Amino acid sequence: MLSSVLIANRGEIACRVIRTARRLGIRTVAVYSEADRTALFVREADEAHEIGPAPARDSYLSVDRILDVARRTGVEAIHPGYGFLSERAEFAEACEQAGILFVGPPASAIRAMGLKDAAKALAIGAGVPVVPGYHGSRQDPDFLRQKAYEIGYPVLIKAVAGGGGTGMRRVDKQAEFEAALEGAQREAQASFGDPRVLVEKYVLSPRHVEVQVFADSHGNAVHLFERDCSLQRRHQKVMEEAPAPGLSPEMREAMGQAAVEAARSVGYVGAGTVEFIADARQGLRPDRFYFMEMNTRLQVEHPVTEAITGLDLVEWQFRVASGEPLPLRQEQLRINGHAVEARVYAEDPARGFLPSTGKLWALRFPDNEDGIRVDAGVVSGDEVTPFYDPMIAKIIAHGATRDEALDRLSAALRGTVVAGPRSNTAFLRALCDMPEFRSGRFDTGTIDRNLEALTARSAGDDDRAAALAALRMVARSGPAKGLSDPWDLHDAFQLMGARAVALPVLVDGERRDVRVTWPGPGEIAAESGEVREMLSGTRSERRERGFVDRPDGGVYVLEGGRQILVQPFDPFTADLDHLDGGDVVQAPMHGKLVAVFVAPGDVVIRGQRLAVVEAMKMEHALLAPRDGTVAEVAAEPGQQVSEGGRLITLAPEEG
Ligand code: ADP
Ligand code: ADP
Ligand code: MG
Repeated sequence: MLSSVLIANRGEIACRVIRTARRLGIRTVAVYSEADRTALFVREADEAHEIGPAPARDSYLSVDRILDVARRTGVEAIHPGYGFLSERAEFAEACEQAGILFVGPPASAIRAMGLKDAAKALAIGAGVPVVPGYHGSRQDPDFLRQKAYEIGYPVLIKAVAGGGGTGMRRVDKQAEFEAALEGAQREAQASFGDPRVLVEKYVLSPRHVEVQVFADSHGNAVHLFERDCSLQRRHQKVMEEAPAPGLSPEMREAMGQAAVEAARSVGYVGAGTVEFIADARQGLRPDRFYFMEMNTRLQVEHPVTEAITGLDLVEWQFRVASGEPLPLRQEQLRINGHAVEARVYAEDPARGFLPSTGKLWALRFPDNEDGIRVDAGVVSGDEVTPFYDPMIAKIIAHGATRDEALDRLSAALRGTVVAGPRSNTAFLRALCDMPEFRSGRFDTGTIDRNLEALTARSAGDDDRAAALAALRMVARSGPAKGLSDPWDLHDAFQLMGARAVALPVLVDGERRDVRVTWPGPGEIAAESGEVREMLSGTRSERRERGFVDRPDGGVYVLEGGRQILVQPFDPFTADLDHLDGGDVVQAPMHGKLVAVFVAPGDVVIRGQRLAVVEAMKMEHALLAPRDGTVAEVAAEPGQQVSEGGRLITLAPEEG
């Protein structure tokens, strides 16, 4: 067994690899970018070394810097995780030349499977069925259009160097071919530096079924059954499960063998995944599946395979890399129950799944629940930065049956709290409970066909959040500040008549006036739109789990996996009480600096507006913490600023 490993990756997968390494007594060395200085995986590794600035090309994609740390720390092996350098043949080669074990296949196998056209040719050679199409070298539009016509529409244009669902276009009719080709080539050139494409038949009612394979350096190769990854958005996986619903034992056998053949054909060693597309129009049939590509690395969704086989695939990777034979033979492998994985992302389903960054004010998963595993890359208080894949965690549920696994996942998602960046938790839960998915009759188009229902917000959610948050704000300020009684309210509140006040709040950035009343002793009521919420001592405690407070007075109201940020809106009164009187003005959150009103040398007074930061569709005024003179302005309007970043400094006070 190995004695030490460097993990050339970050986030969730770095934590995942460290966990197994630690269990096996392998020393772990992490490498990290400036943006990841305080990241969880850096804290968890035995030692960690900074390798460069945030952009991946200067850090996680820098072969030289990573190998430099590997040499300095004397590690025996490098685990590349997934993404980044994991499928770069040159990296595997460079490791070999440096005398360091690459925990992955030989460079030759990575290269052979690296381009989709060459991989298809190899598959055909190995007797593995492929999607009918053209994967030759000619790239002129007229020729490819002719090929598309011969294949028959709809067709799919794919970047041969593609990955991550990028560089792909479905074309339904001849007239649209040329524009789609141009788009695919442009995207392929931009993303992979290689404009070449292939054209293949677009499989109708497509199911993505992939097979986990493992081979050792002694000529043994097995498959660890399949995963169904048909729940996709923009050709990217959202939820994955094992085994594939509706797959017969004969088809499993046929696919498993085809996958092992494909791996053998390139002299594969280590963990790999052979991806197939199946035509599910008449259910899954052994004569209707086709090779798509081989991913020569550990896959994001490997935990569902671990759940149904009871194995640790990272442990297998380490064993194979150190020259041991595969721990088990094919006939010793069994499927136990069913497993599902959901990828929890910091993204906003309501805004086209735009990545959402910032501080995680709260991150909680259900703990110690039966059959639930959570692989996370961050914890509460950490930051989701804009530099990398915004995955927060993977939640994996295992059960005796598919329904049990899905029920457990649904419950786990219900108990998950993400406050700060927006997340897809509610979307995942809706997906988990969707009849079309539950029935097992779904395909890669299921999410798109149901997108509206899956991302719908129920009417009244915002009003309910506004009312609940208003109650919390009023109650929290308590008798001390007088807010529990309307006659003592401070200036921002306008009296609306006897014992009723309008409390202005921002609900996800939009203004709303909540009507607050005190109907009886110890009771507060808040009304927004049609919604009326009441608070009395006992109720407030019961609701405690549904809120996350921010130090700036904002409240996240959490409902069904979604967060609604409600902030006190106080346009007239600056919050002078909370100015700290220090020298430095920091950005309160990730956002864009939209205006700076001062320059070095300007004399300012306490509470004066110095700059404005825009975040979450809201402007936040930055105020002078004390009287003084501006010494430095560290950012310019238009610039992105990160939370806590120093923007303006005042000259030190004299005396
Ligand atoms: P998987 O089946 O393991 O999910 P993917 O192809 O979706 O495989 O990608 C695995 C990881 O690699 C993901 O973290 C993804 O963000 C990253 N990745 C894949 N392709 C690219 C790419 N072209 N550019 C950037 N990241 C990529
Ligand atoms: P990537 O390298 O980006 O993962 P793949 O070839 O694996 O590219 O395809 C990604 C996804 O695109 C598949 O999971 C599937 O949903 C869809 N897809 C690929 N090929 C076809 C096809 N011929 N017909 C229908 N859908 C396809
Ligand atoms: Mg793929």
